[in-house]
Amino acid sequence: MYDNHNGNLNRVPDLFGSMVFGDKAMRERLPKEVYRALRKTIENGKSLDKSIADTVANAMKDWAAERGATHFTHWFQPMTGITAEKHDSFISPEGDGRIIMEFSGKELVKGEPDASSFPSGGLRATFEARGYTAWDPSSYAFIKDHTLCIPTVFYSYTGVALDKKTPLLRSMEALNKQALRILRLFGNGDVTHVNTTVGPEQEYFLVDREQYRRREDLILCGRTLFGAKPPKGQELEDHYFGSIKPRVTAFMEELDEELWKLGVFAKTEHNEVAPAQHELAPIFTNTNLASDHNQLMMELMKRIAERHGMACLLHEKPFAGVNGSGKHNNWSICTNTGVNLLEPGDSPQENAQFLLFLTAVIKAVDEYQDLLRVSVASAGNDHRLGANEAPPAIVSMFLGDELTGILEAIEHETPYSPRETEVMKVGVHILPRFPKDTTDRNRTSPFAFTGNKFEFRMLGSAFSISGPNVVLNTIVAEELAQFADALEGTADFNSDLNALIRKTLTDHKRIIFNGNNYSDEWVAEAERRGLSNLKTTVDALPSFIAPKSIALFTRHKIFTEQEMRSRYEILLESYCKTLNIEALTMADMVNKQILPAVMKYTNRLVRAALDKRALCDSMPAEPEQPLAEKLAGLSGCLYRKTRKLESELMQAPEQADIKAQADYYKDIILPSMQELRETADELETLTAKDCWPYPSYSELLYPVD
Ligand code: ADP
Ligand code: MG
Repeated sequence: MYDNHNGNLNRVPDLFGSMVFGDKAMRERLPKEVYRALRKTIENGKSLDKSIADTVANAMKDWAAERGATHFTHWFQPMTGITAEKHDSFISPEGDGRIIMEFSGKELVKGEPDASSFPSGGLRATFEARGYTAWDPSSYAFIKDHTLCIPTVFYSYTGVALDKKTPLLRSMEALNKQALRILRLFGNGDVTHVNTTVGPEQEYFLVDREQYRRREDLILCGRTLFGAKPPKGQELEDHYFGSIKPRVTAFMEELDEELWKLGVFAKTEHNEVAPAQHELAPIFTNTNLASDHNQLMMELMKRIAERHGMACLLHEKPFAGVNGSGKHNNWSICTNTGVNLLEPGDSPQENAQFLLFLTAVIKAVDEYQDLLRVSVASAGNDHRLGANEAPPAIVSMFLGDELTGILEAIEHETPYSPRETEVMKVGVHILPRFPKDTTDRNRTSPFAFTGNKFEFRMLGSAFSISGPNVVLNTIVAEELAQFADALEGTADFNSDLNALIRKTLTDHKRIIFNGNNYSDEWVAEAERRGLSNLKTTVDALPSFIAPKSIALFTRHKIFTEQEMRSRYEILLESYCKTLNIEALTMADMVNKQILPAVMKYTNRLVRAALDKRALCDSMPAEPEQPLAEKLAGLSGCLYRKTRKLESELMQAPEQADIKAQADYYKDIILPSMQELRETADELETLTAKDCWPYPSYSELLYPVD
């Protein structure tokens, strides 16, 4: 009943959330008092009370068994960026050879996966491999592949966070606490909880599975390491909103349906700018859930693509010379009474509150640009940020001309339009309505205000959204805390509020930029403004452990200093490992396939030239001879460049100094990889198709089906 895939929109209401043990299932299946206790736990972000755990577990098991589940797992988000699971069966032996289905409160609440195989950046000494998982009741359990998945946090024996979910929950709590202080100042006594909301737009590529399987680089690294430019690139931009191929349509339908069952409201429709590129945008929800959902979405995309004879590429830059993939993190702040705090209101009072939150974000982004940059740093995303398609590595904010004009009027105490005579004052005036028209949007900005939310556009497509939102929530919490400190107990609230907003704008307006972020002038202008431009992951990461960052995260109890240092190490280590695997894969591809193929083809040409000469002395050996000479020259070059890369890899510094190792990969290995690629790509353009070992860019990007 829950397992058929034929798309029929009438069934969506039944289907939606059918595989989630959400509020509806809880209400139906739990005794009233247990349900009420669980709801309280969820709302207050506490862990589950032992006295009700057995009842909840049992109800969950019955619900799951009716839907075909035979196993359960604690589903968690270790620092590898993907999710991990350890499956156990519900089945318990009954002694007499029979079995019963069992699931206890203890099993629901706590798990003990072997933690030693997950990165910990030195947090767990090797003799202490124990790690625990604990249910986060604010994330609902769900069924995937006949398995009841319990979303959990993951921590060490000594209580240190080993995952991406724990700091995210902590950061949401920090923001809640500080936002409530601000709301009290405006007399919003009815609000008891504030959440951040996120709607992540996910880009991805789909390629033919058979062709994917023939490329070692795609299989091992998720991106092409070689590949000559196709005759047709994306210059015509005819793919954007173009018609969708039947096999892609079938994929999207199944993906939507599977996501709906998991309570993710997805609508996968349009094509992106690059050929074979697509996007999925779910409807936003609270950040914790959005993060779980995005992980599930990426996992399902990969799996469902396979069923349709395709491979889903989530890498930030699968193809050189073609747009890469990102993730747009649409972010806002919402009260439990349903008010979006980044939505300009209809009264002077609401607008004053909106402007205070807006100013807090402006100050946060300016003061902690480096941390935002760190939160989107990875080897994969380095190919994208700053290239001509993605936001640059410089963090700035787009507010649009209208809102910027209003802020300037407030700052300078002038009227905000030629028609007005009165000077603009916070708490006195009503703001005009801002257009939410998409045509007005600046697509080049890394951090854009889009009417009632901010869109942080620097995330890589393969990212967990957790890290960037931990930073966003924490830096805004910090500014709100400072504002609350300044305004609590003031004698003249309106006048102090005005002064605070004006001073903050004067101090931080350098971060606002409404122009073209892709232009060279902006790079120069940003430098004049003193904004940072951290071009690569290795340049950016040290900011994470700068004293200012450690002070921020420890003050709001998001990370301990030890947790931060370990995460810093893990990120550098993962950068080095990624480049090491890529470089080794390149050498392997050259040695085992590219060189043999080119030598074979050269030999064919040489034979043909010799045959011609044998037949008749005067017969021109063109094109065989000049082509063979050219290929021989280039293959010699390819051979030497490969030896060079291999010997450089042997000389990489020891892991004991991880920063030195990362610098070496960035400064020595990466340029050598690029040089090697150039020669191989030239060889590809000169080698007969039947000899070249890999599907070309044209075949990958323009499949015939
Ligand atoms: P587009 O960017 O294509 O014009 P929208 O602006 O409507 O589309 O939405 C883009 C994404 O932003 C969607 O995932 C949407 O759910 C999300 N979004 C809309 N409002 C909010 C909000 N208040 N908080 C977080 N995300 C939001
Ligand atoms: Mg968008």
